[in-house]
Amino acid sequence: MTAAPAIRLQRCDACAHVQYPARACCEACLSDRLAAIGADAAAGVLLARTVLHHSNEEKFRAKLPLGVGLVALDEGPVVVCFAPAPHAIGDRVTVRASRGDDGRTVLTAE
Ligand SMILES: [Zn+2]
Repeated sequence: MTAAPAIRLQRCDACAHVQYPARACCEACLSDRLAAIGADAAAGVLLARTVLHHSNEEKFRAKLPLGVGLVALDEGPVVVCFAPAPHAIGDRVTVRASRGDDGRTVLTAE
């Protein structure tokens, strides 16, 4: 059984920096004392959004046009995610984790 999809952040026990994606050590202080923070959703601010009308990836062609965005999570990290809703830059959004067709975790801003 696979774990439920989640936004897997890491919090450094030495300096409290939060990072994404997971790394072997803290990007701020290089400590390896990292605690996993998993949540199925996280709030943040939409920094950028674009709509893709072409993809070289077969699996995305059926989903075009496809909104993609950058969200600054309240915890600090910036994530790339699908952004199907036409939010404006600066809008508050919720990023949710789900399981993609290939079994990987997919992040989507709502
Ligand atoms: Zn640190």
